Amino acid sequence: MAFEVREHDLAGRVGRLKTRSGIIETPALLPVINPRVQPIAPREMREKFKLKAVITNAYILMKNFSEHVIKEGVHRFLDFDGVVMTDSGAYQLLVYGEIDATPREVVEFQERIGSDIATILDVPTGWNVSRRRAEETVETTIKRAEELFQYKSREDVLWVGPIQGGLYLDLVEESARRMSALPFQIYALGSPTALMENYLFTDLVDMIVSARRHIPESLPFHLFGAGHPLMLALAVALGCDLFDSAAYAIFAREGRYMTDWGTVRIEDLRWLPCSCPVCAESTPRELLELPEDERFKALARHNLYMCLAEIKRIRQSIREGRLWEHLEVKARSHPSLLSALKRLKRYVRYLEERSPVTKRRGLFFFDSSGLFRPEVYRYKERLFERFRLEGKKVLILLPKPSSKQFFTSHEYRELKNLASKVLGGEAESIHICLYDAPFGVIPIELEGTYPLAQYVTAKPLDRETVDFVVDIIERYLRENDYKVALLVESDGELKERLAEVFEEVCKRKGVFYERLTNDEFWGRENLKRIFKAINEKLKRA
Ligand SMILES: [Zn+2]
Repeated sequence: MAFEVREHDLAGRVGRLKTRSGIIETPALLPVINPRVQPIAPREMREKFKLKAVITNAYILMKNFSEHVIKEGVHRFLDFDGVVMTDSGAYQLLVYGEIDATPREVVEFQERIGSDIATILDVPTGWNVSRRRAEETVETTIKRAEELFQYKSREDVLWVGPIQGGLYLDLVEESARRMSALPFQIYALGSPTALMENYLFTDLVDMIVSARRHIPESLPFHLFGAGHPLMLALAVALGCDLFDSAAYAIFAREGRYMTDWGTVRIEDLRWLPCSCPVCAESTPRELLELPEDERFKALARHNLYMCLAEIKRIRQSIREGRLWEHLEVKARSHPSLLSALKRLKRYVRYLEERSPVTKRRGLFFFDSSGLFRPEVYRYKERLFERFRLEGKKVLILLPKPSSKQFFTSHEYRELKNLASKVLGGEAESIHICLYDAPFGVIPIELEGTYPLAQYVTAKPLDRETVDFVVDIIERYLRENDYKVALLVESDGELKERLAEVFEEVCKRKGVFYERLTNDEFWGRENLKRIFKAINEKLKRA
């Protein structure tokens, strides 16, 4: 197998892709090399940027440098001794409407020049196209994909199967399903560039999931034309492993400088908010005063450093199991990204199925955008599907102390001791549960397990989080048959809604219930009185 997954988080992975010219660590961003205008020499990318792989356009090479590239091979032609991927010319097709080569010629050319990773001549759907046109692009691409396996002659090239369909998600799904039946080693989602340029990240989320869910997880997935540091984390989290970027150079030519919060014009900057080798040694004024060609090169270098730094942050986040936290941070850099993050609510099961079950590290809960992260969703599912009451008749619902594990505390021991003293054997029928955001109900038996053992919640809670937590507690009370229920109230945002729901459900189910403050509950005398009362009620029940 050419691809090996080493670490994973959400649907994102850190992996290794083996090619004839070396191994690429993924997620990876392959800078697009334009053989006609190139601000950073491929050799510099290898030596200074430590890049293992680049991508270039086979059609441009074929039309302008054919003999030369065939004679030298694409690696020597570019002066790059790493991995060279070639794109087919589909982008030219999208922009100029037609290209002057047959699909077979494009395949054979890529084999002859020695591409490590090669792409069939697909027909990009683009956007703002009719459904009929979109269907045609899917059909033609699939037909060409099938033909590839009749005439390709080399076994050491990794072939990319592009998925089309554009914004017609059912077509994207169909395209992915049918392409996945063919023996490609890498799959790619075609032409979301227009979505990127218009910040339509929510549509991008839909498109990626529609395609990705039909492609085997053991294979890498490339997102064409999407190399902006803003959205890389989102795409990785949904299962994209490879990216190509022409943006670093295109933006640079237009005098645009990438930042963590988007792209800005260099003349609008008073300071350079970056410490890459370019920015560490210059000021915006100095960059502006450079001759145009020099400025182009300097900005391209900075932009590429920005993209690569983000790729490294993403890899590290996957390794540490905090890709979700990283997404939340990125989502605050543009409203469209926050909208896209919220869209993940639709795909919570998709993400949950692909996320690790335990992690080395605790979880940070910031606000309601974290309610749909896999850990929260998974816990809720399991609380209701797998957790069973055994012989428990009395529920004591306590606010979870923020600082420590309750089941190891002195208070918990005292509670258990007094319960045994007063209730004897019936003490076993008491069930202690904690309540907290975002998990809702935490039966004491589960308190030491992941992710309940280690999480930090930001306070005060927002309205949606309060609703979410109270809904879980309500459902828990409805679905579990206790005879007696005690609620110890907390002073936080949950207090009022929880009291209301608690009383309402207990009344409806005919459960003996009582609400108490912390002061009314804790203390030896209070507990004794409470357990005696419980004893009475159990006898009557
Ligand atoms: Zn910089």
